[in-house]
Amino acid sequence: MNKDTKNFLYKLLQTPSPTGFEAPIQKVVKNRMKQYSKSIESDLHGNLIVGLNTKASKRVMLAGHCDQIGFMIRYIDKNGFLYVDPLGGIDPGVVPGSLVVIHSEKGPIQGVFGRKPIHMQSPDERNRMKLELKKMWIDIGAKDRKEAEKKVQVGDPVTYKPVITELGSDLIAAPGLDDRVGLFVVMEALRLCARSKLNVALYSVSTVQEEVGLRGATTSGFAVDPEVGIGVDVTFASDNPGKSSEQEVEVALGKGPGIYTGPNVNNVVEKMLIASAKKAKVPYQRIPSSRLLGNDANALQVTRNGVAAASVAIPNRYMHTTVEVCSLKDLENSAKLLAAFIKSIGARTSFIPK
Ligand SMILES: [Zn+2]
Repeated sequence: MNKDTKNFLYKLLQTPSPTGFEAPIQKVVKNRMKQYSKSIESDLHGNLIVGLNTKASKRVMLAGHCDQIGFMIRYIDKNGFLYVDPLGGIDPGVVPGSLVVIHSEKGPIQGVFGRKPIHMQSPDERNRMKLELKKMWIDIGAKDRKEAEKKVQVGDPVTYKPVITELGSDLIAAPGLDDRVGLFVVMEALRLCARSKLNVALYSVSTVQEEVGLRGATTSGFAVDPEVGIGVDVTFASDNPGKSSEQEVEVALGKGPGIYTGPNVNNVVEKMLIASAKKAKVPYQRIPSSRLLGNDANALQVTRNGVAAASVAIPNRYMHTTVEVCSLKDLENSAKLLAAFIKSIGARTSFIPK
C-alpha cells in the first residue's frame, strides 16, 4: 500500500466516529475524495455521497459505514466518575482497563475504564464477576462531579482510544476497523475508477448509523436509487482460536475479500464479482450465508422496489474489541475487485436474477 493511501486509512482510523456523531470523519472523506469525484453531497442524516460519472442512467452504489461502536455518558457521580450506555454492540469483556476518549464540546478528554484490583476481589467475586457495562466507570482524573462537569457532560460520546498497532508485515490492529476499512475500500474503489470510462454512475457512500440498525444505508439508498447496491463491511475471520466451532465457515486474513452468497445476494452481481476477481487476479473467499446479512447490503436490497444487492467482506479478527485485526493486502484487493466489477458493467447489463 503506498504512503498516500495508507495515510488516508490511518487518518480514518484516528478520527472518532461514534454512531450518531460522524461529522468529523465525513470531513476527512470529503477532503480526500474531492479530487477524484464529480459530486460530493452531504444529506440531513449525515451520510456523505461521493459520485463519479453521474450523468449515466445506470447507478451503482457502494456502501461503507463510517460509524464505529462507542459509549455515551449517562451519569456523572458525586466523585466525578462517568457512567455510560453503549452506542452499538459493545463487548463488556474488553471494557475494563481500556483507554477511552470523551468527545466533549471543548475537545477530546482522555479517560480510562477502571476496575476493582484483583487483590481486593473475593474468590467469589473473581469467579462470578459479571461484566455489566452499567456497573463500570470511566475515570478522567476529576476530583469531584463539579470538576468533571467542567470538562464533560451527560450525552457526550466516547470511543476507545485510537491506537493503531502494526503486526508483522501486513496486519494492523486498531479499534473501529469495523467499518472504517469498508469505508476506505469503497472510496479507494472510486479512486481506481476515476480515470476510466464507465458505463455506470458510481456512488460510493460513507453511511452513518449502521451499528444501530443499518440506518444510513436506508436513507442514502433511497436517495441514490441504485440498480446495484453493494455493502462493504468486515466479516468474521475463523483463522484464530476465537472461532466458535469446527464447522464454522472458513475465512482467513490475507486470502482476499469475501464474496457472500445467499438470499441477501443477487446472483448476477455475485457471478460478476467472481468473474471480476479472476480477471483482476485478486484472490477471494466465497462466504455462504443462509441468513440475511447484518450489514448495509441488507437495507440496500429492499430499497424502493428492490436493488440487486451484494456484499464484499473484509476478514476481521476480534470484531468489536479494541484490537480488531485486518490485512492491508485484503483492503487493496477488495478495492481492486470492486473497481474491476464496476468497469465490467455494460450499459445494457441486466441484473434480474437468472
Ligand atoms: Zn460493520
